[in-house]
Amino acid sequence: MSDEQITKKVREICEELILSQENLKEVCDVLHEELNKGLGKDTNPEATIKCFPTYVRELPNGKEKGRFLALDLGGTNFRVLLIQLGEKCSMDSRIYAVPQPIMVGPGDGLFDHIAECLASFIKERELGDELLPLGFTFSFPCKQEGLTKARLARWTKGFKCAGVEGRDVVELLKAAIARRGDVKIKICAILNDTTGTLMSCAWKNHNCRIGLIVGTVTNASYMEKLEKVELWDGDLDEPHQVIINTEWGAFGDNGCLDFIRTEYDNNIDCESINPGRQLYEKMISGMYMGEIARQVIIRLVAEGLLFNGNSSEILEEKGSFFTKYISEIESDKPGDYNNCRVILEELGLNSATDTDCANVRHVCECVSRRAAYLAAAGVAVLLSRIGEESVTVAVDGSVYRFHPHFHNLMTEQISHLIKPGMKFGLMLSEDGSGRGAALVAAVASRNSR
Ligand code: BGC
Ligand code: MG
Repeated sequence: MSDEQITKKVREICEELILSQENLKEVCDVLHEELNKGLGKDTNPEATIKCFPTYVRELPNGKEKGRFLALDLGGTNFRVLLIQLGEKCSMDSRIYAVPQPIMVGPGDGLFDHIAECLASFIKERELGDELLPLGFTFSFPCKQEGLTKARLARWTKGFKCAGVEGRDVVELLKAAIARRGDVKIKICAILNDTTGTLMSCAWKNHNCRIGLIVGTVTNASYMEKLEKVELWDGDLDEPHQVIINTEWGAFGDNGCLDFIRTEYDNNIDCESINPGRQLYEKMISGMYMGEIARQVIIRLVAEGLLFNGNSSEILEEKGSFFTKYISEIESDKPGDYNNCRVILEELGLNSATDTDCANVRHVCECVSRRAAYLAAAGVAVLLSRIGEESVTVAVDGSVYRFHPHFHNLMTEQISHLIKPGMKFGLMLSEDGSGRGAALVAAVASRNSR
């Protein structure tokens, strides 16, 4: 086969990863319906997208000030933070390890560990004399019953502590702090990282209504009108709105996305630790993008369309093609394959031709473009629901942050999917899970004063 014929075949095979505008419009329509099911009182129990009301009803006005403590569990690292809001802002934080046995041991062990880290931070920073308000960013799916009451729906991210699912994690933390008896804490709020991301951006940007994470996993929160939240059982005071933590990673778990899923998506799902779950997330996020690309590459090798049909031991290993490779390969200038060659060599593929490199890059582009467009469809739906003229979307996460074209791909696709005339902007939100926790605590204590 000539290089041209090979390239043509590769493109044909990759076509099933390319979503048409019709596909994306349908994804939007289906997501809209699934969100409605999540928000409906009778439909919620069966809904795959749980749409948890967060009890955060107000956005910051930019004038919040004071000192706050924050805990951040469920992100890349477990951290304790001291945050100063006001004219002079600052953030001081410390990362603490959560040893593996604690991650899968009894729940009390986990909360004792968290309380111990908190106590040692307070002592180190000599904060013992003040009763500082604390915001707890707990990035797991929770059913909230108030701003300081959140029952864990189920563990994710490698945590599996017994006796926590179904329980109020704020109570568990309070109990652990009481068992120690050496520190006093005022827990003002518990929140999800997407809510923190939203709040952190909304502090200075008053159009912010959406908090999005596209990193190792994906999730989004947005401000919804109370009349749309049928399952709302809190008070009906002003303002008539509440932030919804969608937990949209589970979109598709009832089969509603099967019309766009491919054999690669199926393989990844079957080999994952949670088959049948988080199907939208598995097409979008960093935990899976590299593996999707690897599956496609392996198939192309098997068909003799890459590397002259020769694979390598490393390439055959599950997980060996990291998602960051996609970002790096797509960062090469067009026609230049420096990063691509380095990566292929790391994978033990030393004799790649320019055509091989171009085709590997094409696979990466198909995978990342599909991810960006699917995330865009999600944002477009939230923008339409919010219905305001101009909305800022706060975004965090490694895929959005490090992929060279993700921002542009998303922006371009969102424009196609929303009503003409609506304005929006995607904005990188720095450390929402820390500052956002302080802001939720600040807004909460503003109201209790
Ligand atoms: C959790 C979400 C969280 C997301 C990003 C998911 O596993 O269920 O609550 O927002 O991770 O950290
Ligand atoms: Mg974080």
